[in-house]
Amino acid sequence: MKGKLIIVSGPSGSGKSTVTKIVKDRLNIPLSISATTRKPREGEVEGIDYYFLSEDEFKRKISNDEFYEYANVHGNYYGTLKKTVEENLEKGLNVILEIDVQGALIAKDKKKDAVLVFFKTKDTKILEERLRGRKTDSEEVIKKRLENALKELEFENKYDYTVINEDIEDSCQKLIEIINE
Ligand code: 5GP
Repeated sequence: MKGKLIIVSGPSGSGKSTVTKIVKDRLNIPLSISATTRKPREGEVEGIDYYFLSEDEFKRKISNDEFYEYANVHGNYYGTLKKTVEENLEKGLNVILEIDVQGALIAKDKKKDAVLVFFKTKDTKILEERLRGRKTDSEEVIKKRLENALKELEFENKYDYTVINEDIEDSCQKLIEIINE
């Protein structure tokens, strides 16, 4: 049997990355490492957090049709490599992609039985607090991410499930239930 494709999206600061990482560990789901042209943040490691590529390298992969999906998010390219998704699904392994709304809709279009999960906070004030609390991004980047968050929230109705992330453990349980359904 083929694995399930689960796609998690939601605004920056919704806590989706933290929850997705924990759930992947608990369920032994292999990491799916995206490529990006964004510069690494402090502490981020090549090949673990992302494959950090130059814009030329990224565009070469686009021309070689190496991406399952890709999108321009906050002014940088981000993309999932085809082999990451296809090889694992063929092997019967579940795949979780944590990607933006544009990429999620591309992936759903390719694979109609993909399950789309939208993460959000109870209100946007919490998002702003979390983004500022991270202290890794400049004011300009924070503003852009907040603007983008409001746009992303408009896509919630295209998703199969919404998780309002108030408590990490509760959200992990919800995501696990969705995956096992
Ligand atoms: P960050 O810069 O905070 O790591 O990620 C910014 C946004 O890019 C997040 O919404 C994240 O989900 C999205 N993202 C990360 N990897 C991918 C990917 O492979 N494809 C797409 N479309 N979005 C991605």
